[in-house]
Amino acid sequence: MTGNSELDALATRLRGAKHIAVLSGAGMSTESGIPDFRSANGLWARDMSLPEVVSIAYFRRNPVAFWQAFKDIFRIKLAGGYQPNAGHRFLAWLEQAGHRVSVLTQNIDGLHARAGSREVIELHGSLLSAHCLACGGSLGFEAIVEQDVPVCPDCAAVVKPDVVLYGEAVPAIEEAFGLALSADILLVLGSSLEVGPVNLIPLECARAGIPVAIINLSATGFDALFDIVIRDGIGSSCQRLQALLEDPASAC
Ligand code: NAD
Repeated sequence: MTGNSELDALATRLRGAKHIAVLSGAGMSTESGIPDFRSANGLWARDMSLPEVVSIAYFRRNPVAFWQAFKDIFRIKLAGGYQPNAGHRFLAWLEQAGHRVSVLTQNIDGLHARAGSREVIELHGSLLSAHCLACGGSLGFEAIVEQDVPVCPDCAAVVKPDVVLYGEAVPAIEEAFGLALSADILLVLGSSLEVGPVNLIPLECARAGIPVAIINLSATGFDALFDIVIRDGIGSSCQRLQALLEDPASAC
């Protein structure tokens, strides 16, 4: 368990911050039961060709095989059953406590919004919908789950999930940089920071003199940038942070 000094330092920074930017990754949702990509039991460990499969090139080449693999990788049938965890709830609580919280998430599971966070940018899109590249028709989550290979209700072409696939641009990246660079602190939660261009957000914040903190179970290649590094689980860390913010005299 992390010592109290880093958590105390982070609580102090958060208390004084009017605008908190949060960059979350797959580690944010592992405590909700969704595997991440790069932990020992993460999805990467099971299939080394993941970036190739979850790519726009593969979708265009073989949309049927793409959907079979995509549904398996992201356990689509289970996706509606996942619940937000203590980490997601902490971010919603920070908003209720009067902070502006801009959540910039790499996750596609929709759990930040379900926990009550109001300002969420889903940088890599969402699992919960899909659309047709041929005619623009769209499909909701129920239809995606029902059909083995989801097709457009208007023209019957195979639809693409509204997820940013490898090889596609990240449409909201400029907005995310703008929000992070206008915040009083950037908090990274549960990301290996291996995926670009999102991993440059903490770098740019540090360069701009914005305090940067990270809570992540394993080390990242960017740890030297951070003012505060907490190598611990998100749920327990967030619960201890909330206790400190509610009552600075509380023991961790
Ligand atoms: P990643 O898998 O590369 O890294 C996750 C990091 O989280 C790891 O460093 C791990 O040590 C840490 N971690 C795991 N559980 C944790 C916990 N409980 N507390 C603290 N740290 C924890 O994830 P990434 O950096 O987000 O990159 C993976 C890409 O895959 C993203 O682009 C994302 O879109 C996608 N993805 C999304 C989901 C999801 O929506 N839930 C799941 C898997 C992958």
